[in-house]
Amino acid sequence: MKYASVLSFAAESFDNYQVRVETDISRGIFSFSIVGLGDKAISESRDRIISAIKHSGFESPKTKGNKIVTSLSPAYSKKQGSRFDLPIAISYLLATQETQLDTKKFPVNRCYFIGELTLNGDVRPVPDTIKSILNTPEDSIIFVSSKDIELLPTLAHILAKKKVYAAKNLKEITDIISGKIIVDPVISNGEYKKTKRLPRIENTEDKSVWDSVQNQDRAKRALTISIAGGHHIILFGPPGLGKTMLAESSNEILPALSAQKQIEVLCMHNDNLDLPTITNGPFRKVNSTISSQALIGGGNSFRTGEISLAHNGILFIDELLEMKKDTLEKLREPLENKIISHKKYLYRQKVPANFQLIATANLCPCGYIGSQIKQCICRVGEILRYQKRISGPISDRIDLWIKINDKYSDKKEAEGYDHTPCRNEAKILTDACRKIQYARQQKLNGELTASEVLEIISRLRKEALTVFKKTESILSTRGQHRLIKISRTIADLGNSEELLPEHIHEALSYRKENYIDTFQS
Ligand SMILES: [Zn+2]
Repeated sequence: MKYASVLSFAAESFDNYQVRVETDISRGIFSFSIVGLGDKAISESRDRIISAIKHSGFESPKTKGNKIVTSLSPAYSKKQGSRFDLPIAISYLLATQETQLDTKKFPVNRCYFIGELTLNGDVRPVPDTIKSILNTPEDSIIFVSSKDIELLPTLAHILAKKKVYAAKNLKEITDIISGKIIVDPVISNGEYKKTKRLPRIENTEDKSVWDSVQNQDRAKRALTISIAGGHHIILFGPPGLGKTMLAESSNEILPALSAQKQIEVLCMHNDNLDLPTITNGPFRKVNSTISSQALIGGGNSFRTGEISLAHNGILFIDELLEMKKDTLEKLREPLENKIISHKKYLYRQKVPANFQLIATANLCPCGYIGSQIKQCICRVGEILRYQKRISGPISDRIDLWIKINDKYSDKKEAEGYDHTPCRNEAKILTDACRKIQYARQQKLNGELTASEVLEIISRLRKEALTVFKKTESILSTRGQHRLIKISRTIADLGNSEELLPEHIHEALSYRKENYIDTFQS
């Protein structure tokens, strides 16, 4: 009786797990069964594997006349796809001793094989290979298709100790693992070997939208605070003043994410991502006409919603008040908990949705309420109904409210800052500010819990405490906590360890209560 076992890895939506592929061979009439809850693709893989083995220079399993049983475990999870062709073929060839594993170089419990086989033995890429590579244990050695590695150069730096081998076909992989040929892994020690395939580095001298937006110093300051501390922000005011452009330009000042967060971003996406998205986090722009399901995700075919695709990045909703009220209401849970729970099969699945919201809005249907350049033509009732679309609970969760003024009435509203940073300066600022927060509390100020906020309050000195106490009459407890979080970010941007009255004053200037007369919640 002959037996061998190798490892593979499955990454399906949000389940990632190791799969052990065992093959047992005994004498008897030829048969080949694969057990362990495989879907149709796996039972079809039998014919592909037999053909691939034959065309790779090995004896055909059929002519050998053995009884072959291959088991995929854990047996209880439903495995999908053709990704197990390669590990099944390898475990068969090891069991029949037609190939060997150089266990010194390739310890069996550290090696993962992922790939589909063609009839002539080529290894084909499978979906979610990148996700699998990211989720394997730290010192894994992973074998994948050489066609699967387009994104690998951009990932090398976060793979640390993992080694990745990319091979064209089954024969090449058996030659590598048996030591017949010596090939360098394409990735080892966090470096990608084939430098000629490196993607072009983004040109940092490109035109900056952030820099091209003029006379919006206060909005830029608020956006910088919002990005630095992970606070939700809304820009509102008449149309034609560049709200959308300004919101989009915040993409340019996103600081680099930690390696762990980059991995989280990659795991959330099935499509190819570009380098800036991986390093700085996603920027997802959605329109107000988006459906609830596209925004939130879930459903029968289990779609990842925009709020989860924006995980560790920005969700930008243009014209928030144009969104259907029930769609808007669905943002309540993820805005507060940074996670969304979906029903999947018989259980509930929690999907990360730690996004930062940037929104724009007009304050009335025609958009010109409060404008000095054009008369608003809306009736009072229309305006109130329009503004009511943003409910109390949603508006409560938006930390920073910025009114974009008419070009002609705008004057420098600088408070406590006399220079508006250009794109590069702003990026350095947000980056440094996030580093301070992670060093102190391992999270952004926008993510602080109630007890952590209470602790900040308990450390306020007399003057700051007096300013803070005065807000009791205008803010709810939740509002006061949000005020402290923003104040903390303002202090961090100024490199101040202590939370001073001026920080609270500036934070107060961004509160929605300043606009309560024109913007009723
Ligand atoms: Zn109007």
